[in-house]
Amino acid sequence: MSKNFLAIGECMVEMAPTGEGTYAMGFAGDTLNTAWYARKCLPADWSVGYYTAVGNDQVSGQMLDFLKGSGIDTGSVRRLENRTVGLYMIQLKDGERSFAYWRSQSAARRLAEDAGDLENALAGAGLVYFSGITLAILPPEDRRKFLNALRTARKAGTKTAFDPNLRPRLWEDADTMRSCVTEAAGLCDFVMPSFEDELAHFGDTDANVSASRYLEAGAGMVVVKNGPEEVICATADSRHAFQPQPVRNIVDTTAAGDSYNAAFLAEFLTSGDLVASVDAGAKLAGTVIQHRGALVAECFEPA
Ligand code: ADP
Repeated sequence: MSKNFLAIGECMVEMAPTGEGTYAMGFAGDTLNTAWYARKCLPADWSVGYYTAVGNDQVSGQMLDFLKGSGIDTGSVRRLENRTVGLYMIQLKDGERSFAYWRSQSAARRLAEDAGDLENALAGAGLVYFSGITLAILPPEDRRKFLNALRTARKAGTKTAFDPNLRPRLWEDADTMRSCVTEAAGLCDFVMPSFEDELAHFGDTDANVSASRYLEAGAGMVVVKNGPEEVICATADSRHAFQPQPVRNIVDTTAAGDSYNAAFLAEFLTSGDLVASVDAGAKLAGTVIQHRGALVAECFEPA
């Protein structure tokens, strides 16, 4: 397998409050978070790339500089005139976080408009990682191009991994979300949902039901995360439940699932050992949630 992990989706500017009326600018987004953690977890002989579309403006350039500075290859990113990147602002009220988004016109929505660009970006990838948010932001005709490009890449030997990350507000309607997510899952070697989303939007009664539903759709392996509860790992002929270590001091659960996916996949792609992969996922996610923010460099610093 080619040692190249390619994540596809939308990275946004993040404005996080630092005081009364002041904000720090950062960059984040579900698939970018996973790419960032994958870069930290994979050995140096793997490359990690990110495919998206950005503008030609200064902030888009800063985003690419941030990705490159994190060791992520941006060589195939599309640059569009008269567009820019999406943005979200974190607001704090009585200690509770809420999010305001400006992303409806973001460049990333056009990441799949050119089927040739997309197929070139996917060509030679060992693993392609994307999410339900990657699909949700695309115009319907571009979702078809995206799924076709995945089919082509798989025929050439690329593995595929998908976190459904169900966000109905980003989709035109919930039925479209469910059918498109199910179709995408059927094209994937790894489907890595969070049970909370599956309960809310598919009405699954427990994590085993989610695993069976995605296996029936055609997924190779399903890994259902469920906060502090057991993770279910299922294939057509095996099923195991793994209990994550309890975490006492939870500070911020942002990117728990994104980091879990990265550590799990990095271990599975390099060793093929399921128990080690589940341990790696739970260990990293368990550390991430003890820190504030999505991208936690402290997880990788020697104690
Ligand atoms: P998401 O961020 O996608 O909602 P989950 O909440 O399901 O993801 O969590 C992903 C993983 O993070 C879990 O499988 C577990 O390993 C770890 N995790 C999350 N919350 C907790 C918790 N309260 N205690 C221990 N581990 C947790």
